[in-house]
Amino acid sequence: MARPLTQSRALQLRAESFLPGGVDSPVRAFRAVGGDPPFVTRAEGAYLYDADGNKYLDMFGSWGPMILGHAFPPAVEAIQQAAAKSASFGASHAGEADLAELVMQCFPSIERLRFVSSGTEACMSAIRLARGYTGRNFVIKFEGCYHGHADALLVKAGSGVATFGIPGSAGVPAETAMHTLALPYNDLDAVRAAFALHPGAIACIIVEPVVGNAGTIVPAAGYLEGLRTLTHEHGALLILDEVMTGFRLSLGGAQGLYGIRPDLTTLGKIVGGGLPCGAFGGRAEIMNYLAPLGPVYQAGTLSGNPLAMAAGVATLQHLIEHETSVYPQLDSVTASIANGVAAIAEEAGIPVTTNRVGSMFTWFFTGAPVTNFESAATSNTVTFARFHRAMLDAGVWLPPSQYEAAFVGTAHGTEEVAFLLSAAREALANAQDSEN
Ligand SMILES: *Cc1c(COP(=O)(O)O)cnc(C)c1O
Repeated sequence: MARPLTQSRALQLRAESFLPGGVDSPVRAFRAVGGDPPFVTRAEGAYLYDADGNKYLDMFGSWGPMILGHAFPPAVEAIQQAAAKSASFGASHAGEADLAELVMQCFPSIERLRFVSSGTEACMSAIRLARGYTGRNFVIKFEGCYHGHADALLVKAGSGVATFGIPGSAGVPAETAMHTLALPYNDLDAVRAAFALHPGAIACIIVEPVVGNAGTIVPAAGYLEGLRTLTHEHGALLILDEVMTGFRLSLGGAQGLYGIRPDLTTLGKIVGGGLPCGAFGGRAEIMNYLAPLGPVYQAGTLSGNPLAMAAGVATLQHLIEHETSVYPQLDSVTASIANGVAAIAEEAGIPVTTNRVGSMFTWFFTGAPVTNFESAATSNTVTFARFHRAMLDAGVWLPPSQYEAAFVGTAHGTEEVAFLLSAAREALANAQDSEN
């Protein structure tokens, strides 16, 4: 039974007369799955509420930040208190060091840190810093990894572009993309070959340590260690883009989970507790190349914004205090959801490959193992779209693209697991009916 979306439809039409596609970020438009996106009026805990009075179990958590659920009371209170003291100063305040201290407590590889306003800015700035520090131009990234929409990084960049079938983006000069080497993920030989082809010219490797932006893809045993060894050997920097994985896969992100010490790390999403915030940091010797200490310029009017710092502090404080309960709970709830649906699909004879690390996961509608972007692309996106629509009708809001990770937060409990599994049972029975 389709849920009424009359109000959402009207709001979408209105938005379309002001905003291209009615959205401020492309994947929100539901182009990959069809139908109208519900317009959200409010959210609390694990649930989103739309303009037509529908309630949805939220499985994308604002694309990652809402690990403690929506309107987490300590974060709401911290934001309100900060807002009453002005939304922005454009001058230094103690909140910046407060949040930086907590971040460094979680990420021992970060000796110095700078806050920015988005993950895109964090990655773009980390690349500039790596180039400035090494005096080299080339950057290695991996197919299907997304590091924000800066020109140099918008090459074979995963979900957003994959969903729309765009190889890169119009408007990126070939001269800019020329210095970006996009290689297959989980393939160390490709990295060795690139270093051999461009001796002394590769500034850095930037990688999603667990890929989320092509759907969830797990690093093969030894892969991240291999990247660390190869960058050391060739005098290049290793940048772990933990915008999605930071504070999610463990308190110390993927680097904490896998025991990898990068030169630089980029953060976003959870670090700002849902407010616009990102950060990049790493070895002090490298970070001190930034202005005002060094020659690499980077700046931001709203960087270190007091509201974002307050929301970040409230979020990280909770994660740090409750680390030993939060992460095991996230892991077990997510396992119940991911494996539960995988079992239902198997019973229904629908090929699904489930990739999961901690509280991020993807059901790929393919029978083949998914280890890189090429294998992710073998998924049946038509079946995915049908599944997405049926789940939405049943009250479960999955990320609206096959090439996005789903997220679980601490507000998801046994009730939510049971609700999701019963929705999936119905949705997958129907997905099969319409295939026969
Ligand atoms: C979301 C994301 C970004 C971009 O962050 P924005 O805040 O959307 O600019 C960069 N890298 C990764 C791994 C991400 O998941």
